[in-house]
Amino acid sequence: MDLSEQIKSPVKANKNIYRFGGGRADGTAKMKNLLGGKGANLAEMAGLGIPVPPGFTITTEICTEFLNLGRLPDHIKNEVKSSVSEVEKIVGKSFASTVNPLLLSVRSGARASMPGMMDTILNLGLNASTVEALASATNNPRFAWDSYRRFVQMYANVVMGYSSSHLEIHLEDLKHLKGVELDSELSVDDLKTLVSKYLSDIAMNTAQKFPEDPWDQLWGAIEAVFKSWQTPRAKTYRKLHDIPDTWGTAVNVQAMVFGNMGETSATGVAFTRNPSTGEKALYGEFLINAQGEDVVAGLRTPNPLSGAVSHSMESQLPAAFQEFVDIANKLETHYRDMQDLEFTIENSRLWMLQTRTGKRTAQASLRIACELLDEGIISEKEALLRIDPGSLDQLLHPTLDPKATKKLLAKGLPASPGAASGPIVFTSESAEEYEIHHGKKPILVRVETSPEDIGGMVAAAGILTSRGGMTSHAAVVARGMGKCCVAGCSDILIDERQKTLIVKGHKFTEFDVITLDGSTGEVFMGSVQTVEPLLSEHFDRVMKMADGARRMSVRANADTPKDAKVARDFGASGIGLCRTEHMFFDPERIDVVRQMILSETTDERIEALEKLLPMQEADFYEIFKVMDGLPVTIRLLDPPLHEFLPQSEKEAMELAERLQVKPEVLRNKVQQLHEFNPMLGHRGCRLAVTFPEIYEMQVRAIARAAIRNVKEGRTLSPEIMIPLILSSKELQIIRELVDAQMTQEMNQSGVKFEYLVGTMIELPRAALVADKIAEFADFFSFGTNDLTQTTLGISRDDVGRFLNSYLEKGLFEKDPFSSIDQGGVGQLVEIGFKRGRQTKNQLKVGVCGEHGGDPASIAFFEKVGLDYVSCSPFRVPIARIAAARATLK
Ligand code: PEP
Ligand code: MG
Repeated sequence: MDLSEQIKSPVKANKNIYRFGGGRADGTAKMKNLLGGKGANLAEMAGLGIPVPPGFTITTEICTEFLNLGRLPDHIKNEVKSSVSEVEKIVGKSFASTVNPLLLSVRSGARASMPGMMDTILNLGLNASTVEALASATNNPRFAWDSYRRFVQMYANVVMGYSSSHLEIHLEDLKHLKGVELDSELSVDDLKTLVSKYLSDIAMNTAQKFPEDPWDQLWGAIEAVFKSWQTPRAKTYRKLHDIPDTWGTAVNVQAMVFGNMGETSATGVAFTRNPSTGEKALYGEFLINAQGEDVVAGLRTPNPLSGAVSHSMESQLPAAFQEFVDIANKLETHYRDMQDLEFTIENSRLWMLQTRTGKRTAQASLRIACELLDEGIISEKEALLRIDPGSLDQLLHPTLDPKATKKLLAKGLPASPGAASGPIVFTSESAEEYEIHHGKKPILVRVETSPEDIGGMVAAAGILTSRGGMTSHAAVVARGMGKCCVAGCSDILIDERQKTLIVKGHKFTEFDVITLDGSTGEVFMGSVQTVEPLLSEHFDRVMKMADGARRMSVRANADTPKDAKVARDFGASGIGLCRTEHMFFDPERIDVVRQMILSETTDERIEALEKLLPMQEADFYEIFKVMDGLPVTIRLLDPPLHEFLPQSEKEAMELAERLQVKPEVLRNKVQQLHEFNPMLGHRGCRLAVTFPEIYEMQVRAIARAAIRNVKEGRTLSPEIMIPLILSSKELQIIRELVDAQMTQEMNQSGVKFEYLVGTMIELPRAALVADKIAEFADFFSFGTNDLTQTTLGISRDDVGRFLNSYLEKGLFEKDPFSSIDQGGVGQLVEIGFKRGRQTKNQLKVGVCGEHGGDPASIAFFEKVGLDYVSCSPFRVPIARIAAARATLK
């Protein structure tokens, strides 16, 4: 059984609250939909006998009820009260007690992990009386007052919406006044002063009184956590990770355990394997005398867990370390996957706060899948299903050229691999603005990042922070995004207000260029040359497994011999779309194309086409050569002719001079070719209906290129594809044209080879009459870019103006030009496929629109039964895995 697979939640759960701790649990890991990931795993750990602070989970169903009602449903309060008294019994403390008070943590936990996106409140239950009780019960007044200070600050921020920075000023002022640098140097009396300053500041500036009654605090905290499902940052994260808005979060209420009770207390996070490389070694960080948020927030740079070094947990808290190692192993074996763990040690006693499937880089996911397979923990099928095809994108992009001259500025932690160069910006807003205005991605430089920075991190090419460890917010989020990140680079001094970065005596200001290497943690001056990536042995192995498992073939869309080579190297089994017009834009030949377009008579046009013929032949010759033995689909000219003509008056004048035509002749021609709606105008096979000589020339070029290759001993199978067909009659005429040219060239050369003639299905009508069209086609390739445009009646070039509003309002679940609209366009694909096969049961059918590289769309094409997908060369490996997963599922 795979515990990472979730079961569907029942129609309505029979309980609203699930308890755990004290050696038992109501829930299990399989109840993620209802209990959220954190709640379900806490229950599972408790059930396994792992020490977990006792508590309970309020279900995601109650979140939905809360969001609908705008308040907590009445029945919940009594259920919470009786669950709290259960916790009280287990720990022997009482909530709101002025003798031995129980403090609680209140945390979010959705079905899918959303690190740092929603709210948490710690140390809940403190007030003027309980703080004194805590001080005497623990015999540690400093700890009690420090907890109270943290609680007031956190609660004011999360529940009352009063930014922590307002209160932080009092802390900074007091430290300044006392001449101390660290919070820990403040005395009990200082902390008392600080708390009273906080409380009066809050009362004055929020017009709300800070709740004294622990129960009021608890209701406020539970509501705030439910509400945090709707914060803009949580919504952005969900959009980025395809998490439905309807899921909601659970709320976990748990007895507090304290990592900040002194030198035998600590808190930490760990991965059971290295999340960056996948290496099998416990990998984590911890801080003595700290609370969990201190590690995750990256405010202090933490120490390593293992190792013989004096500051490691292994050296400092050896017994707790050994116990932790045993639990980590137990959890990894139990869940059969790499785990991400959080723990706290209170007075030498270890408590597990969380376990979940660890997020990892693509590189790590390949290695972990292969090693778990070798260790006999998972099967080959599971190994393939564990890999997120989209994440492989990270691996397929350039890395820094080892031979390039570089000037090293600093070295931080290699938090997320990849390389990025760009101008630096110091705020998330500037990162977003820079991307919008310049169409390029900057490097976001921050002391540390917080969940508010999500937009800026998306906009950035790479992230550099001066504080925080490998599990800091910046590191975790960047890894999730597959974005290069160097974290905790303490050699650099960042002044976010002045917008300066000082390192080794150099002062960088906004927009100065630097380069990051996220695989080594290095930061370089200026921009550094990159090279194509080297793929690991694990990558090759997983690809081979995928090839063995998948039913569909994966081809590439490649227009040049260079692209064809990349495609072949990435494992494409042919070219599914070679757009011939891209060859026409070459500066060497565009004028000949223009001459052809400007021709007034057929003879003039043929003369220009004769000049283009050897150029096209040379292109096709090279592509066939690279693709020796594999099929190559060449699409004949598609775009409207005016796309090749100059757009500006200046360019038009220059062209007129070069071609020695009168400027007015050129202007007239441009005007003549003007179309109100060129996408639905004189393009595709309609060009061949009016100017058959264009396609005739292209077919001759293909034939001659093929003949040369055959003579040189290569095997080839050209597939000639006609765009934008809407009726069988069109294809019949054009097919005759193609066959006539092919026959003529073969007869003249005496060389014979097999070739196919097929069509794109990219108009709704074509899909509907596919049975008729198939009579004249050897193959179909769905052009889902145009098919989406013509089915939705939305221009693929103009959708950007309103796409975001449609996504935000839930009118589109995903961009229909990236992921196939299964309910609409998808139906046409199914109809076209079925009707085509009705006529010819061996008809070869594929897809070559952008959707051919999108994992969700690939799963859909598998269901329909297509023979192949074709996508851009860099997406070929992604498509190979996605196709395998689609077959296996
Ligand atoms: C398509 O329409 O899906 C297609 C592949 O053709 P193009 O993008 O060139 O219009
Ligand atoms: Mg098209």
